[in-house]
Amino acid sequence: MHRPYEHEVKDLLSRMTVEEKLGQLQQLTWTGDTGPGGGQTEEVERAARAGLLGSVLNLFGAEHTNTLQRMAVEESRLGIPLLFGQDVIHGFWTTFPIPLAEASSFDPAVVELDAEISAMETRSNGIRWTFSPMMDVTHEPRWGRIAESCGEDPYLNTVLAVAKIRGYQGDDLSAGHNVAACAKHFVAYGGAEGGRDYNTVDVSEQRLRNLYLPPFKASVDAGVATVMAAFNTVSGVPAHGNPHTMTGILKEEWGFDGVVVSDYTGVEELIAHGYAADAADAARLALMAGLDMEMVSTTIAAHGKRLLAEGRVTEDRLDDAVARILRLKFELGLFDDPYTDESQAIDEPTPQARAAAREAAGRSMVLMKNDGGVLPLGPGARSIAVVGPFAGHTDLHGTWAGPGCRRFPTVSILDGVRAAAPGATVTHAGADIEEAVAAARSADVTVVVVGEEPELSGEAAVRSEISLPDGQEQLIAAIAATGKPFAVVLLNGRPLTIGSWVDEVPALLEAWHPGIEAGNAVADVLFGKVNPGGKLPVTFPRALGQIPIYYNRENTGRPYSPDGAEQKYVSRYLDLADGPQFAFGHGLSYTTFTTGRPRLDRETVTVDELERGAHVEVLVSVTNTGDRTGDEVVQLYVHDPVASIAQPVRRLRGFRRVTLEPGRTTQVRFTLGADDLGFWTNDPSGCFVVEPGRFDLYAGTDSLADARCTLTVVRS
Ligand code: BGC
Repeated sequence: MHRPYEHEVKDLLSRMTVEEKLGQLQQLTWTGDTGPGGGQTEEVERAARAGLLGSVLNLFGAEHTNTLQRMAVEESRLGIPLLFGQDVIHGFWTTFPIPLAEASSFDPAVVELDAEISAMETRSNGIRWTFSPMMDVTHEPRWGRIAESCGEDPYLNTVLAVAKIRGYQGDDLSAGHNVAACAKHFVAYGGAEGGRDYNTVDVSEQRLRNLYLPPFKASVDAGVATVMAAFNTVSGVPAHGNPHTMTGILKEEWGFDGVVVSDYTGVEELIAHGYAADAADAARLALMAGLDMEMVSTTIAAHGKRLLAEGRVTEDRLDDAVARILRLKFELGLFDDPYTDESQAIDEPTPQARAAAREAAGRSMVLMKNDGGVLPLGPGARSIAVVGPFAGHTDLHGTWAGPGCRRFPTVSILDGVRAAAPGATVTHAGADIEEAVAAARSADVTVVVVGEEPELSGEAAVRSEISLPDGQEQLIAAIAATGKPFAVVLLNGRPLTIGSWVDEVPALLEAWHPGIEAGNAVADVLFGKVNPGGKLPVTFPRALGQIPIYYNRENTGRPYSPDGAEQKYVSRYLDLADGPQFAFGHGLSYTTFTTGRPRLDRETVTVDELERGAHVEVLVSVTNTGDRTGDEVVQLYVHDPVASIAQPVRRLRGFRRVTLEPGRTTQVRFTLGADDLGFWTNDPSGCFVVEPGRFDLYAGTDSLADARCTLTVVRS
């Protein structure tokens, strides 16, 4: 197979010493407070000058990266440029909503635009590689990194991961403002037992392939430049030393020819996992399992030469890893122009970027409940109390805010409401219950702003309780007791257990951590300038003890059914109503919609036709039955009732967000092919089958949709 830049890469490789090759595999972090030349982090500068460094993370700014780049390009023997990487997860300067929020938009365009703007800000600051998108499907709301994922569904994660990669990388990595993306964390990181970060993942091959791998496979097909290994074990073998996942599946089965980077000190951590005896062993295991670049720990650079001499790692594998890294540098245009134009550096959120972040946040919000039409706030709301510990909060960036995001405060909800209602009297009270109640009593309507501090979600930010912290439930109860109308705005990084208070709340808006324009975006929705259309990308449990609870579960042999005759020996909790508090895909609007039964262009299709690429067309009509223009996300679910491996009761296989004026109807068209009807078996070498039989298709506005039709797949 001819690879781009094959000749250039070969030529360089032939001129490199073993030390220089090992150096390319090393990524070091910049830990100094000043830029290069400031007398800090000399180790990085020394390695750059000596040509013993491939990449640097956490150094940004055109001037700083140029200074260090000059050391590599002008002073090292071969002048190979450095590749600067950074975690730009939902914005560099301009914070967009956290990824879980963006997933709620069910809108790939939102995610793609975030990535484009982030790429522009990132590249203009000297960085050409972001460690994003994260596509770890998870069933664990306790896990803090759920905030950084697109939730519990593999299909939604897949569609949004591909959109994000397109936004970062464009069509050509060297062009314009494009940056290399990184599909992470490979793989099954979201399956950590108990939600404890970095914890064990023991997963069957079929679950690995049906649940965790699809977003990665689609990312590879979409040309993602890099993949990051995961901190966890995968069925006993740490992902950083796992030949089955990194080489067998990723590189051989899928043909991935980009770079696999470790996650931070993940290579060295093979020792703590009890998988490697020492640092040299860790280096050998990781490299030979298919890892190409080591972040922060230095086992490969330190021990690679001896391992080679002893024949414990092969020259072919080393050369392959180096070639992948060099090819990426060529593709990024680093050999043509390793520097960044300092005069063009973007150094703050532009008005256009802010406007995009505001729109993204509005599209990401989920109206969970709206009884009695409390929302939207109308002209009758002459006096508005904005209360709660998060009402005046100006750090709603959420977890993994970009390197520069926190230099810019977020717009508080209070300021957003004030700006949106200049004619109204807006009062404010914080966490103090008495003050908040007094403010609520003297206002026409109250907005109660509650949630989780951004630090409560993200890496290593795991909670054993996922209710509202710090007495906020009491605050809600006290406001409810006033008998006055109010709405609750939730600002959080994970699904919360809200069962103890949600019934007392007339209106509930899930705003997640909405980013830099938080208050303006929340006000847009509260006042109806934006009609909410987001949907939940995760199930909200009734209680902690229900976890894991997710919509695409398998049936048991004794499923609980609320109207079943025999209720004792069934799969349920004695002390809890069955089902979620709010289902995956749930979300209301200020208008109402109905959807029709799905209709097919054919009722029968053969396995053979599907395997040759045929698609069945599914049409679903959706009507705005209310009196405002609004958005609905039409969702299509598939169920295979009899299969050689028990199938999920529903699998999302299509969604489309549409905007409709009152009274208007539109037809949404989906297509279903082999990918949508088949599944992976337990065969470790990868076996995907489409089995004949009846398939049930459900369409509607959430995962409980019951409008159904059937499709029959017949043997050829
Ligand atoms: C995280 C990665 C991140 C890396 C570099 C790790 O702790 O797990 O997602 O890209 O740090 O900052």
